[in-house]
Amino acid sequence: MTEFRTDAIVIGAGVVGLAIARQLCLLGQETLVIEKEKTFGTATSSRNSGVIHSGIYYPKGSLKHLFCLAGKELLYSYCESRGIAANRCGKLVVATSPEQLPKLSALFATAQANEVTGLRWLQEAEVAEMEPELYSQKAFYSPDSGIVDTGNYMLSLEGDIFNAGGMIAYNTAVSAILAADDGLHVIATGEEEIEVAAPLVINAAGHGAIGIAARTEGLAAHFVPRQSFAKGNYFSLSGRQPFKHLIYPIPEAAGLGIHATIDFQGRCRFGPDVEWVDNDDDFIVDPARADGFYGAIRSYWPGLPDHALQPDYSGIRPKIHTESETMPDFRISGPEDHGIAGLINLFGIESPGLTSSLAVADHIAALSGLSGRSL
Ligand SMILES: Cc1cc2nc3c(=O)[nH]c(=O)nc-3n(C[C@H](O)[C@H](O)[C@H](O)COP(=O)(O)OP(=O)(O)OC[C@H]3O[C@@H](n4cnc5c(N)ncnc54)[C@H](O)[C@@H]3O)c2cc1C
Repeated sequence: MTEFRTDAIVIGAGVVGLAIARQLCLLGQETLVIEKEKTFGTATSSRNSGVIHSGIYYPKGSLKHLFCLAGKELLYSYCESRGIAANRCGKLVVATSPEQLPKLSALFATAQANEVTGLRWLQEAEVAEMEPELYSQKAFYSPDSGIVDTGNYMLSLEGDIFNAGGMIAYNTAVSAILAADDGLHVIATGEEEIEVAAPLVINAAGHGAIGIAARTEGLAAHFVPRQSFAKGNYFSLSGRQPFKHLIYPIPEAAGLGIHATIDFQGRCRFGPDVEWVDNDDDFIVDPARADGFYGAIRSYWPGLPDHALQPDYSGIRPKIHTESETMPDFRISGPEDHGIAGLINLFGIESPGLTSSLAVADHIAALSGLSGRSL
């Protein structure tokens, strides 16, 4: 076994792990990222809607709310400074039946309380002008919502890590964390078994985070949440793109509803739906789910032609609640919770984790005592 020491270890090279590692490197920490796959972002970070959220949906004061608000501006600025494609294309949130009107009003009120900038109700004529093919009974507009080129964003974060002297060990899976007098010891297996000691270990392993926490010496079981998975399937549209903005329906319990997103290649895609699953490794989209998609999409786009949807990709939400429970906040658990010096676990980093990534990185640096900048 090879043994060595470093200042900080980040487990997981998803968008959140990369953003955290970049921040630690920029603060002068010799940082090692350990990632079990052969490259970054192959789990959830490249299997999402690629939307920069504006902060509409989350309970006021929650981590999701605060990270989303701070993260979106950090992300737009970062992308601008690096020439990464990001488009503040705006989003319409729509009610399509009388029963949905109170829900839309409640959502607007939440968004206002959350100080989402630029929100406004749209007149019928404005909706018709902005999106002639859209059906709605009422709609509001969020101009700060947008899309980002997620792959290039992560590539840039990886480049920042290397430029600042950080290292990434790909094809290396963490199996356990041991607590010793000289700090935490991370045990991982790549070409060979390694043991890396560091005073600071950030567990940002997405679906793997709970398993790693369960195999952390001295971490009491009640600091390890229960894991569940909610798959989100996408269908792409063959043919002309009907919308210029993001179109979101009223959200459902475990997701934001089957929405329409556009990408930088001019394609339109719908999803994700919510399919509770038992594991995190089946990304196949069942074509039979198309029926549900046609129904949901036609509620706001009656012109969707038959046979226009093709199964695309899926992502799996790293849930820390079950189907019957309400959606909890991100859970970031540091030494002040669990008592193990230098260990920070990130659990349940579902949407808006991409939007929040740079703000989460700031927060982790502050929690680690490395910077004063926090929420
Ligand atoms: C369907 C869907 C749509 C979404 N849409 C949006 C959106 O539009 N906007 C938005 O802001 N957010 C969105 N999200 C949320 C966003 O994608 C996630 O919050 C974000 O990608 C989480 O990043 P992460 O780095 O925490 O996790 P991940 O991307 O899962 O990265 C974790 C990494 O850890 C690695 N790993 C796991 N176990 C181990 C181990 N034992 N050893 C070493 N490495 C390990 C994995 O291989 C992986 O690379 C969406 C999520 C889903 C599922």
